[in-house]
Amino acid sequence: MTDCLFCKIRDGDIPCDTVFENDDVFAFNDVNPQAPVHVLIIPKKHISTVNDLEDVDEAIMGKLFSAGKNIASQKGLSVDGYRLVVNCNEKAGQTVFHIHMHLLGGRNMTWPPG
Ligand code: AMP
Ligand code: ZN
Repeated sequence: MTDCLFCKIRDGDIPCDTVFENDDVFAFNDVNPQAPVHVLIIPKKHISTVNDLEDVDEAIMGKLFSAGKNIASQKGLSVDGYRLVVNCNEKAGQTVFHIHMHLLGGRNMTWPPG
C-alpha cells in the first residue's frame, strides 16, 4: 500500500519512536498519547480495517495480542491493568486505515468508552 501512513512508518519513511519489532509486528508510541503509556501495534502486512480480515490473518491478530501482552509486561502494567483497543471505521474513531491495536495504560480507564 503506497499511500498509507502506517506502511510508511513501518518502512522507516516517516520517523517514529519504535517500541517493538519482529517479522510480523511493529509497535511504536502514539504521537498524541491518551494515557501515560499509549503504544500502537500494527501488523507489517497492510490490512485496512477489521472488516478486511481474512481467515489467513487470524494468526497475525493473535501476534498483535501477544505483542500487546509483552509490551504491557515490559511497561509494568500487567498487574494494574491496561486496555487493548481496535477501532473499526469512522464511527468507532478509526482515522488511520491500516489496522492497529492501541495499548493504553498507566491511568484509570473509564467504561463505557466515549
Ligand atoms: P485510530 O484513531 O484508532 O485510527 O488511531 C490512529 C492513531 O494514530 C491516533 O491515536 C493518532 O494519534 C496516531 N497517529 C497518527 N499519526 C501518527 C504518527 N505519525 N505517529 C504515531 N502515531 C500517529
Ligand atoms: Zn498500511
